Amino acid sequence: MKKILVSGGAGFIGSHLCSRLIKDGHQVICLDNLFTGAKRNIEHLIAHPRFQFVNHDITLPYTAEVDEIYNLACPASPIHYQYDAIKTIKTSVLGAINLIELADKTGAKILQASTSEVYGDPHVHPQTEEYWGNVNPIGLRSCYDEGKRCAETIFMDFNRMKGTRIKIIRIFNTYGPNMLPDDGRVISNFIVQALRNEDITIYGTGAQTRSFQYVTDLIEAMIRMMATGDEFTGPVNIGNPNEFTILELANKVIAEVGSESKIIFKPLPMDDPQQRQPDITLAKKYLDWQPTIFLDEGLKYMVDYFKNYNL
Ligand code: NAD
Ligand code: UDP
Repeated sequence: MKKILVSGGAGFIGSHLCSRLIKDGHQVICLDNLFTGAKRNIEHLIAHPRFQFVNHDITLPYTAEVDEIYNLACPASPIHYQYDAIKTIKTSVLGAINLIELADKTGAKILQASTSEVYGDPHVHPQTEEYWGNVNPIGLRSCYDEGKRCAETIFMDFNRMKGTRIKIIRIFNTYGPNMLPDDGRVISNFIVQALRNEDITIYGTGAQTRSFQYVTDLIEAMIRMMATGDEFTGPVNIGNPNEFTILELANKVIAEVGSESKIIFKPLPMDDPQQRQPDITLAKKYLDWQPTIFLDEGLKYMVDYFKNYNL
């Protein structure tokens, strides 16, 4: 049994990770300030003797004797990370420093939940880990994109200078149960709109693409990444290469729900990436991992989840 700290553990991905780690027999400390997380995501774990919830903001230091740290704390949906951009960059940068210093002190391994956003609006397609990206440093998305890039830098420098045991994964668009109806990301927005027979809001023309990963595939990759030897730091892309235009996604959701919703078009937000697809060669090689749940199957699970949500 390991003692494992999960920051952002009450969020969408973090709650799945906490459940998996408890199921695997570990002791889990879930740190979260509940900004975009929800107690309902971890309700089933609260009474568990190996689970502890701590309401803590990672921009402040935290101390505990732990074996492993997963750093997931950071709002991930554009509307939420842009709500208080200064707070977002503090969470990414000060949070990374606080948690990696804890890893350094305790000798714990630490995994950083980085993002495909480090590639910005990419000129290389699909994106490989060698690509340095095309990121606007002063735009509306920069608090998140540059915050995550800086966190990667902090991790690599601690590893080079102090031998801190780090892992970096770059997560591509992920969806699944425990997303909140007002999360604001595209799959949850479209399904909630379709179930309510409201207009489906496409930003721009809908020609932009994303590649969508189901959350359980991501969790499996995170566990495998943490289990790799200290010489393997990443960064490693973790995503599902199945790529769709946003218009294709809207039509799939309408068909799956059997909705009467109409599609409407709204302005494209600033710096919205035109295309996104992971090259997962590294993950296949080093983690012996590949996604197993593709969009048609995953959308069914998401529709069932929101049908039972009491929207
Ligand atoms: P989420 O918003 O559901 O979860 C983030 C969690 O972090 C929330 O519970 C929130 O309350 C908590 N949090 C935010 N700021 C905090 C702070 N200062 N201190 C403590 N807790 C704080 O988002 P998610 O989709 O579950 O994303 C989890 C992580 O994965 C994030 O770091 C995100 O950048 C990364 N990621 C997610 C995706 C995706 O598609 N879901 C893609 C790339 C990267
Ligand atoms: N999007 C959209 N309608 C929505 C929400 C998002 O058309 O209601 C678009 C958004 O502009 C982007 C894509 O869907 O092109 C994915 O957006 P999301 O916020 O899910 O993730 P990210 O842009 O960070 O990849």
